[in-house]
Amino acid sequence: MHYYQPLWTLVGAGIKDLPSTARDMSSVMPKGVDWIKDYCTEVDPKNNSIRLAGAAGSIKYEYLIVAAGLNIDWDKIEGLTEALETPGVCSNYSPRTVQKTFSAIENLKNGNAIFTFPNSPVKCPGAPQKIMYLTDAHLRKVRTVLEFLYGNKQYIVFNRTEGDQMSPFTTTQHCRSYSV
Ligand SMILES: Cc1cc2nc3c(=O)[nH]c(=O)nc-3n(C[C@H](O)[C@H](O)[C@H](O)COP(=O)(O)OP(=O)(O)OC[C@H]3O[C@@H](n4cnc5c(N)ncnc54)[C@H](O)[C@@H]3O)c2cc1C
Repeated sequence: MHYYQPLWTLVGAGIKDLPSTARDMSSVMPKGVDWIKDYCTEVDPKNNSIRLAGAAGSIKYEYLIVAAGLNIDWDKIEGLTEALETPGVCSNYSPRTVQKTFSAIENLKNGNAIFTFPNSPVKCPGAPQKIMYLTDAHLRKVRTVLEFLYGNKQYIVFNRTEGDQMSPFTTTQHCRSYSV
């Protein structure tokens, strides 16, 4: 199964449903590509080959592009796996947990809504902000806006490298325009 993960933010916000983000993997495979349903266990750059777990053994390559993605390791945070099974704890980063987000948003009645950006590599740096703005948009329709807090270790909205010509648009400026 292939998931178009950026849409999970909209699933979390109750705008899309999870099945609409999924496609059969074979239907998204580009024409002219041989899809080998196997697992790479070793790269041997000296011999331009990769080793596979299954019967195919090794395959030679001319150019190799490694795009193994990120594995989310919930267990690295003590208690998180168990917490995700309880009401009110959700994550837009997995098809197993994203469907809990909207009910959590709907159950926000009062108090502070805290959104955070982790101090670690993350699949989509915009995703924590996007769900915050969508939550704000939803709550404005149904009740008085709550207090929104966005915890970001960086001063800027997205990563910038030295010499980058982007305007110095800060998290503070950006969030103010959204009453955050
Ligand atoms: C909530 C959310 C919102 C997002 N929003 C955006 C957005 O707005 N814009 C944006 O650009 N991005 C966004 N992203 C990020 C984007 O979806 C991911 O960066 C992208 O899906 C990663 O694609 P990938 O192919 O690199 O990795 P993956 O989709 O993780 O694919 C990696 C593949 O490699 C396979 N694999 C791993 N190890 C091996 C191995 N040893 N042998 C064989 N196969 C292996 C895995 O099985 C998997 O199929 C978002 C992500 C999330 C979760």
